[in-house]
Amino acid sequence: MANKYNHLESEAKRKGYWEENNIYAYDANSSKPVYSIDTPPPTVSWKIHIGHIFSYTQAEVIARFKRMSGCNVFYPFGFDDNGLPTERLVEKEIGKKWSEMPRKEFIAECLRVTKGYREQFKDLRKSVGVSADRSLEYSTISPLVQRISQRSFLDLLSKKTIYKKNFPALRCPECQTSVAQAEVEDKEFDSTFYDLQFTLEDGTPVIIATTRPELLPACVAVFVNPEDERYKNLIGKDIITPLGKKVKILADEKVGIEKGTGVVMCCTYGDETDMYRVQTYKLPDCIVLDTTGRLINTGDAELDGLTTRQGRKLIVEKLKAKGLVLKELPISHAVGCHERCGTPMEIIPTAQWFINVLDHKQKFLDNANSIKRYPEYMKKRYDERVENLKWDRCISRQRFYGIPIPVRYSKKTGEVILPDADQLPVDPINDRPKTLPEWHTIDDITPEMDVLDTRATSSLTPLINARRGEPDDRSDKIFPMNLRPQAHDIIRTRAFYTIVKWEYHMNTIPRTDVMISGHVLASKWEKISKSKNNAGKEPGELIKDHSADAVRYRTCSASLGKNTAFEEGEIQNGKKLVTKLRNASNFVFMNLQDFDQKIALTEDKLCPIDIWVLAQANKTSQEMVKHLNNYEFGLARIEFEKFFRHDFCDNYLEIVKDKIYKAEKYPNWSAEKLSAQYTLYHTLFAIIKMIAPILPFITEELYQTYYSQVLGEKSVHTLAYPNNDVFAIKQSLEPVYKNMDTVFQIIEKVRGYKTDSKLWLGTELKQITISWEKSVIDWLASFTNDLKSVTRSNEIIFQEAGEFNIEIII
Ligand SMILES: [Zn+2]
Repeated sequence: MANKYNHLESEAKRKGYWEENNIYAYDANSSKPVYSIDTPPPTVSWKIHIGHIFSYTQAEVIARFKRMSGCNVFYPFGFDDNGLPTERLVEKEIGKKWSEMPRKEFIAECLRVTKGYREQFKDLRKSVGVSADRSLEYSTISPLVQRISQRSFLDLLSKKTIYKKNFPALRCPECQTSVAQAEVEDKEFDSTFYDLQFTLEDGTPVIIATTRPELLPACVAVFVNPEDERYKNLIGKDIITPLGKKVKILADEKVGIEKGTGVVMCCTYGDETDMYRVQTYKLPDCIVLDTTGRLINTGDAELDGLTTRQGRKLIVEKLKAKGLVLKELPISHAVGCHERCGTPMEIIPTAQWFINVLDHKQKFLDNANSIKRYPEYMKKRYDERVENLKWDRCISRQRFYGIPIPVRYSKKTGEVILPDADQLPVDPINDRPKTLPEWHTIDDITPEMDVLDTRATSSLTPLINARRGEPDDRSDKIFPMNLRPQAHDIIRTRAFYTIVKWEYHMNTIPRTDVMISGHVLASKWEKISKSKNNAGKEPGELIKDHSADAVRYRTCSASLGKNTAFEEGEIQNGKKLVTKLRNASNFVFMNLQDFDQKIALTEDKLCPIDIWVLAQANKTSQEMVKHLNNYEFGLARIEFEKFFRHDFCDNYLEIVKDKIYKAEKYPNWSAEKLSAQYTLYHTLFAIIKMIAPILPFITEELYQTYYSQVLGEKSVHTLAYPNNDVFAIKQSLEPVYKNMDTVFQIIEKVRGYKTDSKLWLGTELKQITISWEKSVIDWLASFTNDLKSVTRSNEIIFQEAGEFNIEIII
């Protein structure tokens, strides 16, 4: 091996080698058990940051481990490259809004821009060593995925779990589309509580506090709590709003007696409570916002056309002039905003497509119970999410760049017209229907203009991976999928909807295990976010500067489910480990030149120290297997380092160095040297294989430098993972461990003595006298050479004694 490690050169070489030799290919004809991984496709909406690298790598380590554990790993990788997030990225890149250009032109721009991003993603994935099978790649806007997604829509439509309805839906006035509950996040805003004066018919004033006076024209009722002694007698009476409109006072036990004045107005629609009350008490709609969030039909020409903010200002001025604003209280409160643009949401009734989730909540909770979460406590998030669902999910979006909803309508009857199955994917706007219903001409038909929410498709990834319904459908082989790696933030969105779809399509669960990674925070415990631009150095740069192995090592220092703060300096530990692996391997390879790899030694031919290190390697691999099977890559890494750094490098190599370098010093040297060489050969090989899933590049290099010439196998990554089989040990290990403990105590004492006396560790000692009980002394006698060598002493004397003691003479 070259003296200096050039990670750029070496890693580039390995990447190319793996690709040329198809090392990570899934084999459809293999008889090995399939291990299938369903990675949520990254949304093409922003550059990949270190957070993505963490979660990809953590799952990737598992893929490599399973491959080495004898599985036929099915590991595709896709891109979620359509929908609103992608549109916003494209708008930013081209400096133009979707509404400013023709549909076709905008879609063409989206396809062009996303292609570039996909390529960047792919390069980065390769650079970090993601061992996905590239032939299984997919993009959610590809014709294949469109077909699968539209087929899913039509299937659910026929099962009546999808329906279209005019219904109040959450709408983003900025993006001009409906959005789902899960896409809303709370943001703190400064606002004002206005105490407005309503009046009973007898002239008695009633005060109502609200933050949204601009919705007064949409007031359809006033509510009080039926238990509230102050207002009990008003229930059922009429009340006049400050705008002069007469509405009823009704009772609802959800009204907070302590909150505000205890009287609230219900407007269509200020919030979800209004939706609930309108539905429950069968109140009429009175819609005063158009789909762009501007006021309409307010009965006041000055108000119509204003934004809600402008309208609020004007209406407050007008009411103040009439003395109807009694108090203003500045507050700061949480407002539901669109997660993509930060605009406060409105609730506006429009005709939208929904997927029914409310009727089967219990089923979705039950199904999730058969899926194992790692860590398990994350299940609670899912349960809470499902239990708190209040509405069916809206899946239609009024945008351009998405998968078209594959239906048309009859202008004559309003009926939904389905496309022919062989016409999928269909774009009802641009494609001509193949067949027409009876008594219809093409002019009697109108297309659905909406597209599907991208999550309606990205929740179908198991179907996409299986190419469900296609001639090469592989559902039988890969279902249910074994592993879903994901970050904790999508438990309530995509993860949930996959379970919903699965129940509706197949009456079962989509996957067996979910591995949930935490978020990576920018330093100072701050979430990495696009708006704060705090993601730090790009992953590509980090890899270039420090090597992919070092970056991967850092990602495996995080714990499942927990957020972790990332600082670039922490990558150093990984770099150091790579160097240590190289140095140790260099030493071993150098000293194996006269070693015959075919030799098989039995226990009686091995020195105790060799048996000990082989047994430690076995123990370590077994522990690592246990951790990796539980997706605990971090614990596996710690176990590995304990063994490699401490047992192997600090102790074992120090002890055997002399035996190999200066074998002629000792009687029986050839037997001891052979035992050491045999042990070095097998232990280092186990070390390389054990850490291969976490550090794939350096381990491949070390394997190719020496072992590949012996074994002929193409890559370390297709070898079997060591699992308590480094060396078959038959004898009881108890005495070996007990005696080795004493050996290490001796070594430690001598090292301590030299350090305290300010001596160099290599300083030769005249004599060491070791006192301890007879059985140990007898055993240690056979260890004299090793002890002399590691302590650099010329003579060792053993004495029987009741207590352990060491005397050193320089
Ligand atoms: Zn928006």
